[in-house]
Amino acid sequence: MRVPDRTLHLPVVRPSAQPETEAEEPDIGARAGQARDILTSELDPLPREECGVFGVSGVPAAAELTFLGLYALQHRGQESGGICAVDADGTARVRKGLGLVADIFSADDLNQLPGDTALGHVRYSTAGGSRIQNAQPIVVRYAQGDLAIAHNGNLTNGNELRNRLVEEGALFQTTSDSEVMVHLIARSRHDSVEAQIDDALTHLEGAFSLVITVGDTLYAAVDPRGFRPLVLGRLGSGHIVASETCALDIIDAEFIRDIEPGEVLRIRGPKVERLRSLPPAPRQAPCVFELVYFARPDSRLWGVSVDRSRRAFGRRLAVEHPAEADCVFAVPDSANSAALGYAEESGIPYELGLLRNHYVGRTFIKPSQADRDFGARMKYNPVREVVKDRRVVVVDDSLVRGTTSTSLVKFLRAAGAKEVHFRIASPPVTNPCFYGIDMPSKEELVGSAHSVEEIRALLGVDSLGYLSLEGMLECVEDFGPFCDACFSGNYTAPLVDAERGLASLVNPPGC
Ligand code: SF4
Repeated sequence: MRVPDRTLHLPVVRPSAQPETEAEEPDIGARAGQARDILTSELDPLPREECGVFGVSGVPAAAELTFLGLYALQHRGQESGGICAVDADGTARVRKGLGLVADIFSADDLNQLPGDTALGHVRYSTAGGSRIQNAQPIVVRYAQGDLAIAHNGNLTNGNELRNRLVEEGALFQTTSDSEVMVHLIARSRHDSVEAQIDDALTHLEGAFSLVITVGDTLYAAVDPRGFRPLVLGRLGSGHIVASETCALDIIDAEFIRDIEPGEVLRIRGPKVERLRSLPPAPRQAPCVFELVYFARPDSRLWGVSVDRSRRAFGRRLAVEHPAEADCVFAVPDSANSAALGYAEESGIPYELGLLRNHYVGRTFIKPSQADRDFGARMKYNPVREVVKDRRVVVVDDSLVRGTTSTSLVKFLRAAGAKEVHFRIASPPVTNPCFYGIDMPSKEELVGSAHSVEEIRALLGVDSLGYLSLEGMLECVEDFGPFCDACFSGNYTAPLVDAERGLASLVNPPGC
């Protein structure tokens, strides 16, 4: 079999005093090839949050505040970002781009977005790639004025609605299911904006946490199951809406409350009105994976601190799966709180055994394990002095494909770890998400295809323990019930598109 040539043919510079060796050039070439792959790869084995949203009403320099809010929500999407500001005349101006918010917007851009009302969006794209057309907010002009919308979540009947609208003559500019909502609002036969929004929302199935502006009025809405978080805050005489409380903190806004499942709010500066509640779902279902992995630990969602939830998961994990070990450490950063909880409960000292390079935004699927190892090596490195000749407990928040973990275990062994005990602060992920999180297909989920013992052997660890589903839910039972479909297979909202063959099971369209 021919091995592909992966060198970049860089000139090899050697000190003249050193004898030339044949081994040097291929090594450099291999690394150069890996660097090239990393620069061109678009794949990531981790589940990805798809969006973060932010809205401002009645506060001067709303675009600047939105920029800061999106900066705090960057972990929810790194592929594109956008800000739309509305001036006192109701004119909307929008700036969108690909990449991180700090790279998209200049001070000059923000100066050109005047107004006391604004909304913004960060996105991680799934189907449709990272095309700029799919960046949000989506802004259109319709009969009632300028309309802008930013969406977090995934409609489970988005394709069905889109097909119907296309048959009726609608023209779509994006592949995002969020554009369906724009058409539904614009085509509603009701007279008032509020009734049009209400009419549109009643057609939707699945997950949506929305901020919308029509003219300079801000609206916020959450689907009846409340899959994705949305919080309300106060700043001066105006109001803020954001996906997480960390986005309120960055602008010193006061947290008022979570926007409840099914709520539709109209916000005009100091005035917040609850327009109505959407028809209630049989059961509310906020996403427990937000607490496990996605949300920032300094946020509070649905009345519970993300950090405290993760610590509780870690403590319960220590009870369910104790280990004889010398130290505990996390796969940083999302498992830090759970590892602290494990250490607190077990009495095993907490250490910093793995370091993460924060400037590596992505890990990469590669055709060979050697390349995967290098992708993980770019991101993590063990602290030899912590792990050498010691029995270590490594806590991770979740296990999706297991590829990065396999590489990590190799690094720890190479650094001299005597025993490696892997602990996962959530149950096995056995099913994909259709409600706004991009996950691999069921076949690619290691927890779906293998038993715990098989996964232990695949990872090459001395022991493996997952937090039980009951244990996880009991830790946060005062704040639920939660959606746990990716762990249990119990999908609460109908999977309309998937059941009719209208959606890819691998990549739901997403916001
Ligand atoms: S399926 Fe999993 S990731 Fe998706 S909403 Fe439910 S708990 Fe969250």
